[in-house]
Amino acid sequence: MKESLRNELQRLGREVTLYAVQANDNAGSKIYVANQKKACEEIGIKYVLDEMSPTASEGEICARLEKLNADPKVSAIILQMPVPPGVDARKIQGKIAPEKDAEGITAANMGRLVSGTARVAPCTPLAVMELLKSLPLEPKKPLREPEKLLAKEGKFDERLHGWNACVVGHSEIVGKPLALMLLQNFCTVTVCHVGTRELAEQTRRAEILISAAGVPNLIKADMVAPGAIVLDVAINRIPELDAGGKPVLNEKTGKPRTKIVGDCDFASVSEKASYITPVPGGVGPVTTAFLLKNVLECAKY
Ligand code: NAD
Repeated sequence: MKESLRNELQRLGREVTLYAVQANDNAGSKIYVANQKKACEEIGIKYVLDEMSPTASEGEICARLEKLNADPKVSAIILQMPVPPGVDARKIQGKIAPEKDAEGITAANMGRLVSGTARVAPCTPLAVMELLKSLPLEPKKPLREPEKLLAKEGKFDERLHGWNACVVGHSEIVGKPLALMLLQNFCTVTVCHVGTRELAEQTRRAEILISAAGVPNLIKADMVAPGAIVLDVAINRIPELDAGGKPVLNEKTGKPRTKIVGDCDFASVSEKASYITPVPGGVGPVTTAFLLKNVLECAKY
């Protein structure tokens, strides 16, 4: 994807710039910013970090976003999380012009998912769909003439037609937009969340299971149908334990070591699934590639 984006950028023949507005002093956010910068520069997108005070007011951040919206040098904008205490993140994200919305999260761009006409969309659901489409799939139900026509027009991937998909998590950034994308491809979609009774009953019916709950070990092998395709979106940091179950300490600092895991018990679920994405190294890097793709879409528009 990065190679093809680099070529696309060259064909565009002009500077493309992503502006990142950061109004926090958060260590995790700084890591994200560094990764975004690296990914942008790898393909030739200019990355500008616009740092604001971690105590900036809603009005100040909105004014900054409005200035960037009006600036023709700015191809796309990303607002880093978290925002200062007391600031409504959703409200100010909504101030980003839809045509400069690098994360595809403004109401206008989310709304276009309903009709399958989004130019830019949330990066993680896009990554999940891309990973699915990279698999050797066959339609589960033959297409009727109208669907054949839609598939021919590139409106959906016919190979996903008729699949049973279950999404665990119904957040605005992952679960909900992903459910719409799966529906666009004629999957039958079940969306689970904290209000779901008997989660295992729902997940076991899935031919495609996507977990984005943020709960380590939530999905165990007995919750997965044999041969299911499993995509693990979650990124959870947990303490590293030794064989005896004791915390492993960092040799230098003496502090407990941590590691990143997803929602799935990878060892047992991977025995049962036909495909599974690892954490880290699965959905995450593809998500980053889609951020770059969105920036390019904004620039082209
Ligand atoms: P969120 O906290 O906004 O939403 C979590 C969702 O999971 C909610 O719908 C909640 O109802 C559901 N949930 C929580 N516990 C549950 C349980 N026990 N049973 C059933 N449902 C449950 O989180 P989010 O922003 O959507 O992110 C979800 C996970 O994905 C997090 O681990 C996050 O770090 C990760 N994430 C990864 C990427 C990536 O690029 N790979 C991007 C975004 C988020």
